[in-house]
Amino acid sequence: VPVVAIVGRPNVGKSTLVNRILGRREAVVEDIPGVTRDRVSYDANWIGRRFTVVDTGGWEPDAKGLQQAVAAQAELAMRTADAIVLVVDATVGATATDEAVARVLRRSKTPVILAANKIDSERAEAEAATLWSLGLGEPHPVSAAHGRGAGDLLDVILEVLPETPREATTLGGPRRVALVGKPNVGKSSLLNKLAGSERSVVDNVAGTTVDPVDELVELDGKTWQFIDTAGLRRKVRTASGHEYYASLRTRSALDAAEVAILLIDASEPITEQDLRVLSLIIESGRALVIAFNKWDLVDEDRRLRLDKEIDRELARVPWARRVNISASTGRSVQKLVPALEGALESWDRRVSTGQLNNWLKDVIAATPPPLRGGRQPRVMFATQAATRPPTFVLFTTGFLEAGYRRFLERRLREQFGFDGSPVRINVRVRD
Ligand code: GDP
Repeated sequence: VPVVAIVGRPNVGKSTLVNRILGRREAVVEDIPGVTRDRVSYDANWIGRRFTVVDTGGWEPDAKGLQQAVAAQAELAMRTADAIVLVVDATVGATATDEAVARVLRRSKTPVILAANKIDSERAEAEAATLWSLGLGEPHPVSAAHGRGAGDLLDVILEVLPETPREATTLGGPRRVALVGKPNVGKSSLLNKLAGSERSVVDNVAGTTVDPVDELVELDGKTWQFIDTAGLRRKVRTASGHEYYASLRTRSALDAAEVAILLIDASEPITEQDLRVLSLIIESGRALVIAFNKWDLVDEDRRLRLDKEIDRELARVPWARRVNISASTGRSVQKLVPALEGALESWDRRVSTGQLNNWLKDVIAATPPPLRGGRQPRVMFATQAATRPPTFVLFTTGFLEAGYRRFLERRLREQFGFDGSPVRINVRVRD
């Protein structure tokens, strides 16, 4: 779904405009203090077309100062949105902050629409014209509070939005995989097997730039980008362990990747080192497939022991997809492909605000949060603020303890899946 970001300095009416765009369906948001200080996204619909509105609004001027905070907001919008609406208070005219943010937005490749807000009457429309000076084209007069001009503004927004879902265009390139695990678990063997079995490695997939240390591998007719494979090929194995460098490499590969394959040697007990790599993956927020390698060396006895180890050591990631493979014989390595695809599908997924809140209402009615200090925290509203990984924000009247948050995550997964992907749940407490 295409994304529209609303930017502008505080008090120009961004949240009001967001609510206007949403048809006030989610006006409850307005009543929750702190909401406008976070980037929050909402599902919107105008004449049958769906899009997501992101309210980058109201970032408080922090140490960096107002101008820089708003400029950062604009930079973020340029990176994440398909269209940007800059809201300016036309009754005040262009301030220095508006000019600073306009300067940033003038180099935007993402279309920018200038909304001249607080034009509450036809007579006031002349005031909008002064905003041509921002160099962002025609100012569109609107009154977010009264609704005047909102329909026209939405028409203009939808005109510049791509027809096709955003994923289809920006994700046209290969998906990026980090192959990670402790030394000797078989990372290079697996890479060789994958790249070798279908040696149609392509260098010039349209529209992609591939880092020379990466490798493009075609599996089942689809191209995947394996990150930082030079390290695996060259066997950068510094003499005395040097786990520190190994972990730096792992970290940077994870940064560049969307999904990780964690290789674990199934023929040996799971070690501290495996768990350290797992921690890095969890920190990175990437989707995860765990491949138990050297399956050719696993007998019945070892298998039973491994099951116990998995229960004990991998309890943090019950959601991870698991595959048993042998990189040396090639057994079951093809099963990695559907596992990767499923994990990425979860990682990309968005649940609509409506669906989410229907589910939340039922769960909370059946199992309310435990009392804290004799009071019952209320969970008022939830929104999925981000994907990759799916990130949810719960608005509450009180702190939710970790046990209850884990309970909510379990129920969320039962309802919506998210197999193979981490899920983040943030809680915003209203004072
Ligand atoms: P890396 O350090 O993770 O890249 O590990 P390597 O790919 O270099 O593999 C380390 C050792 O394990 C090599 O001797 C491989 O031949 C062996 N190995 C890798 N995968 C398997 C497997 O599936 N089964 C068996 N039996 N040995 C394997």
